[in-house]
Amino acid sequence: MPLLARRLADLGTENAFKLGDDIQVCLDRGMDVIRFNIGAPDFRSAPHLNRVAVAELEAGNSGYCDAAGIPAFREAIARHVSGTRGIDVGPERVVVAPGAKPPIGYTFQTYVDRGDEVVYPSPGFPIYESWATFVGARPVPLHLSEEQGFAFTADDLGALLTKRTRLIILCSPSNPTGSVLSADDLAGIADVIRDRCHPDVRVYSDEIYEHILFDGAKHHSIASQPGMEERTVIASGHSKGFAMTGWRLGWAVLPTAEEAAVFKQLNINIMSCVPPFLQEGGRAAYEDPATAGVVAHMVGEFERRRDFIVPALNAIEGLRCQMPKGAFYVFPNVAGACERLGVFETCEAMPAESRARTTPSGMLQMFLLYRYGVATMDRASFCRIGSEGQHFLRISIANGMEDIERGVARIERACDDPEGFAEFIANERLWD
Ligand code: PMP
Repeated sequence: MPLLARRLADLGTENAFKLGDDIQVCLDRGMDVIRFNIGAPDFRSAPHLNRVAVAELEAGNSGYCDAAGIPAFREAIARHVSGTRGIDVGPERVVVAPGAKPPIGYTFQTYVDRGDEVVYPSPGFPIYESWATFVGARPVPLHLSEEQGFAFTADDLGALLTKRTRLIILCSPSNPTGSVLSADDLAGIADVIRDRCHPDVRVYSDEIYEHILFDGAKHHSIASQPGMEERTVIASGHSKGFAMTGWRLGWAVLPTAEEAAVFKQLNINIMSCVPPFLQEGGRAAYEDPATAGVVAHMVGEFERRRDFIVPALNAIEGLRCQMPKGAFYVFPNVAGACERLGVFETCEAMPAESRARTTPSGMLQMFLLYRYGVATMDRASFCRIGSEGQHFLRISIANGMEDIERGVARIERACDDPEGFAEFIANERLWD
C-alpha cells in the first residue's frame, strides 16, 4: 500500500517558496544573495493598520469569529468592490480567507469536476495549473505571447472555449508579466464569454495586484462588464497592494450568496476563520484615509524602479524586456543570454532524465543564483504545460534600488561568462 495518496502526484507547487532551499545553500556557502525571486513588497505594513490589530488583540478580540469573515470587514470589502468596480455587492456575497491563494483552490473545489476544462493564463500564477491537475481537470493554457505584450485578444480566448469549459481564469495586472487588461480588452473578452459559455461557467478574476498600476492607469475588472458580475468570482486581498503578505488576508466576492456559503463551508472545513484582530486591521486599510497615501508612495517607488531596470536589462546583450504596466515584476526574454552562454547546447547534451528536470531558463536561473548570487524565477515556475521553447525569467522589483542596481550588474557579468557557466554545469550537478 503506498504511503501517500495517489492524487498527490498531480499537485504542483509555487517555486518562489521552494527556491528558498537553494538560496539557503548559497547563504551557507557565505554568498550574498539578491532576492529578485520575492513576490512580496519590500515595505512594511502601515503603522496605522498595525496599531489597530495590536489594540484589538490587547482588547481581547482573540477568539473564533464568523467563518465567512467578521461582518464589518465584509461590509468594508463590499463597499470597496462596489465603489471600484461600479457594481452593487453586499456583504453576504463576500468571504474572507487567509490570503488570496485559498480562493483559487476553493473555486476549483466548488465548480470543477474531473474532465472539465479550465482555461488559465500561461505564463501565470502556478497555483492555477496546480489545482487544475490536482482535481483532474483538463488544463487549457491561454498562452500570453511577448509579441502581443503578454495580453490576449477575445479571439485567442474564444479559440480555447469548448462545451467542456467550466472555468476561465483571468489575472490583471498579471503575475508574472505585468501586463494589464484594458476596459476595451475586457469588453471583448466578456462578449466572447457571454456568447459562447453557459451562464454557469465561472470566471475567476484574480485582482490581487489591483492597486499596483503604473503611468496613472486605473484598474478594470471583468465583473464591471454587462452581464459578467453574475458569472465572476472576484478575488483580491491585502498582500500586495497594502504590503501585508504575512497577515494572510484575502477575500472573494461570489456571484451569489449561495456560492459564498460554499466558500464559507470550505473555510469551516479547513481553517475555521481568519483571526478577528487581523480582520480589524484589514478593515482599517479600506476605511482609514491614511491608506491611500501609503499605497501611492509604494506604487511610485515600484514605478521608479521599473523605469530604471527595464532600460538597464535591455542594455544587456541577450536580454529583451518589456515595460510592465502593473504588479511589481519584469519578465525579460532571456533566449539571447542562453545562446551566449551555451545553455541550449548544454541542455541538449544532458541525459533525458536530467533534461526533464529542468529547462534552459531554469539552468540560467540556477547559474545566476549559484555563481552570481541573484535569485530569479524561471519560465516553468509560471505554469509549465506547453511552455517548451519559451525562455524567460521573472525579476521582482520589490527590492531596494541599491539591490536592483547591484543585481543588474551581476546579471550583466553573468551573461558574459560562458566559461563560468560551463564550470557551473560541470561541478554543481543539480539535475543528475
Ligand atoms: N494570485 C496571484 C496572481 C499572486 O501573485 C499571489 C501571490 N504571489 C496570490 C494570488 C496569492 O496571494 P496571497 O499571498 O494573498 O495568498
